[in-house]
Amino acid sequence: MKPTVVLVGRPNVGKSTLFNRLTKTRDALVADLPGLTRDRHYGHGKSGSKPFLVVDTGGFEPLAKDGILHEMARQTEQAIAEADVVIFVVDGRQGITAHDKDIANKLRRLDRPVFVAVNKTEGMDKGVTTADFHELGLGEPWSISASHGEGVRGLVEMALEPY
Ligand code: GDP
Ligand code: MG
Repeated sequence: MKPTVVLVGRPNVGKSTLFNRLTKTRDALVADLPGLTRDRHYGHGKSGSKPFLVVDTGGFEPLAKDGILHEMARQTEQAIAEADVVIFVVDGRQGITAHDKDIANKLRRLDRPVFVAVNKTEGMDKGVTTADFHELGLGEPWSISASHGEGVRGLVEMALEPY
């Protein structure tokens, strides 16, 4: 069985860009419009010789109670239930937001490995950028640039190490 890697995070942090990079497709919709990916989106990736399944989620809205946001939250929870590994994408340029903390609180209760990917760090001091994100309580944050392809391969190798 291929391991399933699920990408979660609040809108606009770069999940779909990372999905595209991992699957080398332009399938996932990337846009400046937050929350554009409305439901789960599956693709195939390869790390060295290890194939894996990757799932892009359309946002993580733990506080939403109804309508489209509720449906997105449900889809995301289902995707997480199917995950072998969760990659929690955050925005290294924005720093931690309250929404990131809500998501982290939820992810910490999972019985699944979670890796924090600090995205958009091209041209930034990686040590300084990731330091803040220790506060999320999900282990050592990993600095990446999904759009420039920096750190992505290493992140996936680490995440798939047990497989
Ligand atoms: P999603 O809502 O989490 O799926 O985020 P998207 O993948 O749609 O990306 C949101 C915005 O962030 C887009 O304008 C992307 O081009 C931009 N973005 C994604 N990855 C990076 C990155 O590594 N560096 C920078 N500077 N921008 C990025
Ligand atoms: Mg998206």
